Amino acid sequence: MTEEARKKGIEIGAGVLLYIIAWSVTSYWTVPAAAETVLFFLAYAVLSATTYLEQAKKMLKRQFIDENLLMIIATLGAFFVERHKEAVAAMLFYQVGKFVEEISLGRTKKSIAKFIDIRPEYANLKVGNKEKIVPPQELELRQVIVLRPGEKIPVDCVVTQGTGTIDMKALTGESEPRAVRVGDHLYSGSINLNGVLEARVTRLYNDSTAAKIMRMVENANDNKADSVHFADKFTKYYTPIVILIALLTVILPPMMFIEAKSEWIYRGLIILVAACPCGLMVSIPMAFLGGIGAASRQGVLIKGASYLEELTEVDTYVFDKTGTLTEGVFHVRDIVPHKMQEEELLEIAALAESYSNHPIATSLGEAYGREPDRSRVTDIEEQPGYGVRAHVDGREVYVGNTRLMNREGIFYQQVEDAGTVVYIAVDGEYAGYILISDIIREDSFRLMRWMRRKSMGTVMFTGDNEQVAEEVASRLRIESVYYELMPEDKVSLLEEFRENQMEGEKMAFVGDGINDAPVLSLADIGIAMGGLGADAALEAADIILMEDEPSRIISAVRIAKATLRSVRQNMVFAIGMKVLLIIMAFFGFVTMQNAIIADMAVMLINILNSFWMLQYSGR
Ligand code: ADP
Ligand code: MG
Repeated sequence: MTEEARKKGIEIGAGVLLYIIAWSVTSYWTVPAAAETVLFFLAYAVLSATTYLEQAKKMLKRQFIDENLLMIIATLGAFFVERHKEAVAAMLFYQVGKFVEEISLGRTKKSIAKFIDIRPEYANLKVGNKEKIVPPQELELRQVIVLRPGEKIPVDCVVTQGTGTIDMKALTGESEPRAVRVGDHLYSGSINLNGVLEARVTRLYNDSTAAKIMRMVENANDNKADSVHFADKFTKYYTPIVILIALLTVILPPMMFIEAKSEWIYRGLIILVAACPCGLMVSIPMAFLGGIGAASRQGVLIKGASYLEELTEVDTYVFDKTGTLTEGVFHVRDIVPHKMQEEELLEIAALAESYSNHPIATSLGEAYGREPDRSRVTDIEEQPGYGVRAHVDGREVYVGNTRLMNREGIFYQQVEDAGTVVYIAVDGEYAGYILISDIIREDSFRLMRWMRRKSMGTVMFTGDNEQVAEEVASRLRIESVYYELMPEDKVSLLEEFRENQMEGEKMAFVGDGINDAPVLSLADIGIAMGGLGADAALEAADIILMEDEPSRIISAVRIAKATLRSVRQNMVFAIGMKVLLIIMAFFGFVTMQNAIIADMAVMLINILNSFWMLQYSGR
């Protein structure tokens, strides 16, 4: 139970005690009216103190109208018309409702935490020839840890000994285990299935994947203001209308009928209580929490409830090409040197690229096949959208696209091919080119089919050349394609798109965080792929696909839609019940307690409905 819930529990207990005392005293003895008021007021004061405090705080922030205010007016009013018992009872049930709220919210959070059960508890630190069990927080960089079968990886690390298979389901939603060997990176929160591994710590606990993911999910949970923004729009109109109806009930009928004025005041107050949207207000954040939890089990991290809401409104998806729609793993198809040997050209290119983490660089490194001797490389400068410049063995080397060659005034021969061409120049002279090509992810086809079926707009951005861009776009049947873009062109293009956006249209950008982090943050929704490892993407994006599978977007959208559906169901049901209760209250069929009890029933049903969101898989 949370601290908050415990406090509520004590308040309720004390209030109930005072209420019983007041009841007993006034039923067994005849006490003066003033004494009776005081006795019940004591119970009322204990039960309502926090509500008054909260309301006062809200008033300071100039947000007055909400369910607290309804309750305050109603119960205070009941005191004035000498309905002491009802006033206390209404406040009592209201508090019980809040208590249930607190508990069920806490439960939802707990179940999310359990669903994404990635918190490592301990680590086996290797000290000399012995092992010591330590909390993961105490591990330091470069220390060596031992990973046994069945254990959770405590921090991000790299395998230094042994082979094994790793279950990353909790992190990425991927059920297929992954084989690892020396040199492979392991992410905290995944599980070592078999094999004893030794690994070197590459990140402190707090910077490791598990801690980052948990922080993100927790923050998304605490972003309560965010998720309620949906409900805010509703309360803004609902509450004043209710107050107006109650006022009319108090004023109009006594002017026309004969019944006593105090009876109509009481009915007006009951209307206020009956209209209280308390249950609804909990069920909304709960449904959003459930949606976020359900998504995280599918390997989709959603950083806040509002993104879940916005995701349902997206009608255009803009994709980055390299590493997003394509695998970003290039294969060298051809090496065409100019006045040197093939091996030499590849070596120069691989060395110059040895510090870059661009997919092109990685593939050149792979084709080179050896550990690059980094001492031969100096003065490295990566130029996004162009390529790299570096000194290799003291010679000035440029590796990149035509734009780079043109800028450096290098005389070269342009190659027309549906592959990415990497040009190389050494000491101002053209040295040849390497033709590499990337493959489109199988999964991208699936996503595009779904997008076409849903009539979503699709756009592709790429820094690559026209031939490659057109080929990829036509195979995936993407509607519009923009190529040879510098990272800043992507930003200005998206800005332009956004300016031309019509009211209510939303645009998502899907990228891998390499050279496109600014675009990720600029879009209405930034979706980053391959959350593991890419820090820039983790920071800039609103939604993160933990696995390199663009089609996870489909699950995310389905979950988002289901969440909003659940919220709408709750609203319709709750408001329907409220209207019914208000009408019954007007004709004098409900007492204040009954109105509150009915609200609790509505709340329970709403909460159950939201709980189901957690089970939703979006498959
Ligand atoms: P994309 O938009 O396809 O993801 P980038 O914006 O990352 O591509 O890069 C655009 C272009 O810039 C690449 O197609 C390539 O020609 C060139 N480039 C960028 N970085 C490098 C690099 N490290 N080595 C060689 N070429 C590069
Ligand atoms: Mg890219």
